[in-house]
Amino acid sequence: MNKDVYHFINGQKTAGQGNQWVPLIDPLTNTAHKRVIYANSLDIEAAIDAAKTAFPSWASTTPSKRSQILFRFKYLLDQHTDALAHLVMEEHGKTLSDAKGSVQRGIAVVDYACGISKHLQTDFSASVGTNTDAYSLRQPLGVCVGITPFNFPIMIPLWMFPIAIACGNTFVLKPSERDPSVSVKLAELMQAAGLPDGVLNVVHGDKNAVDTLITHPDVKAVSAVGSTPVAKYIHDTAIQHHKRVQTFGGAKNHAVVMPDANMEHAANAIFGAAYGSAGERCMAISVAVIVGEKTVEEFINKFKALIPTLKIGAGSEPSVAMGPLITKEHRERVLGLINQGVNEGAKLIIDGRDFQSKVYPNGNFLGANLFDFVTPEMSIYKNEIFGPVLCIVRVNNFSEALALINNNPYGNGTAIFTSDASIAREFTLRVQAGMVGVNIPIPVPAAQFSFGGWKNSIFSDLHLHGPEGVQFYTKLKTVTSTWPTQAHGVEFKIPTGE
Ligand code: NAD
Repeated sequence: MNKDVYHFINGQKTAGQGNQWVPLIDPLTNTAHKRVIYANSLDIEAAIDAAKTAFPSWASTTPSKRSQILFRFKYLLDQHTDALAHLVMEEHGKTLSDAKGSVQRGIAVVDYACGISKHLQTDFSASVGTNTDAYSLRQPLGVCVGITPFNFPIMIPLWMFPIAIACGNTFVLKPSERDPSVSVKLAELMQAAGLPDGVLNVVHGDKNAVDTLITHPDVKAVSAVGSTPVAKYIHDTAIQHHKRVQTFGGAKNHAVVMPDANMEHAANAIFGAAYGSAGERCMAISVAVIVGEKTVEEFINKFKALIPTLKIGAGSEPSVAMGPLITKEHRERVLGLINQGVNEGAKLIIDGRDFQSKVYPNGNFLGANLFDFVTPEMSIYKNEIFGPVLCIVRVNNFSEALALINNNPYGNGTAIFTSDASIAREFTLRVQAGMVGVNIPIPVPAAQFSFGGWKNSIFSDLHLHGPEGVQFYTKLKTVTSTWPTQAHGVEFKIPTGE
């Protein structure tokens, strides 16, 4: 196992000029298993400089040549899926199957980026005036920066840089400092696919590195994903420094269960969406909004029956469905919120607080937790918990369910479980959230669509990847041209549109 995690600057793995090595803590054992070098300002400067130098030549490389490199990159990702997923599992703690799923979700975006020639196609209008035509161009921005969270260390970087690079930009990625290795591996695979040096760079660090990146005069655009306060801070700071910005924050995702839902399916789906990846997903379902007393009873019975099937342990064990939380501190925060929920009067009907792994007694484990009788005033409802905790809020009808979701400050994803198409349609039209599932608990859009929430889950207009990704990473230019034709006896006129 490679225990030192380096930057990747201008085609080279390097420790740079800093000397701050920070241990990476294994979530299974709570011991340091690797270390990562943090960038100092000179390293960040070097990465931005490499990206700036590489930009003119990369921007003028034809889109089809860029996509040839991305095709090779996609092939390499397919070849290295197992190794990449192991790296994610090792540092994050999620199960291997979950990690593989996240690699596949990332590859789907690379697949989309391979079609960049088509995605960059623009409009042409002949004869907007006498002898005059108009067309638009989508051109790259320059050096773009990506800042990514710990919970999807491969998928979220792959939602950003392949699109940015396909559009002709160069990129500096600052992955989460908690699971940074896989980003460096991605940069190496891009290089192996034929990407010129300097087009993709990776630097490590925390807030200091982020601050240098998002205020640097040579950086043109910033994409960032993280908790809501951080997403808002990065957005506001980068805007003040005149960057194009898209930032994505935290979530509190609700699933409505209607009395006519297929209860077997709803319970199974919400179970996986609440506890998968130990609840450390921005699209995890953390609130089940259940309509009617009888529905609650039915749902809880089916849900409880699934608990014995939830094996908790090391992500490498094939039957394990839930691994440890990322850090000891995060586990303590989640535990604190669960205790607060109990103190505030919610009923903890499945209590996972005392779960202990026999094999990994020092791991950051928690069992599954289910609260009933949760109300919107409680801290377990108001806060993003980001752990294996599901809250049931009981409501009397569809309108109450919809109002609850629409009053919540977050608006990332949501879902409805019903067999009534008219209710499902009403929900999809009226709900205030960016991604909506009908009988699907985690409606992460396919790569040809764009990913993003509403309200406090986003601080910008354009979503990630898909058509909005291409829009974010390009600027529009519109050309109006005429060719004087005096030779043919036709007089040149300024176009008036008539
Ligand atoms: P985080 O906010 O702690 O960190 C995200 C990134 O920002 C990291 O690269 C980190 O180094 C950097 N950062 C941290 N503090 C900073 C600060 N004060 N100033 C500048 N940069 C800072 O988030 P996390 O714990 O790594 O990830 C979990 C959070 O991300 C959850 O809230 C989750 O909902 C959210 N998330 C959102 C989405 C989405 O699409 N909306 C997707 C995944 C995760």
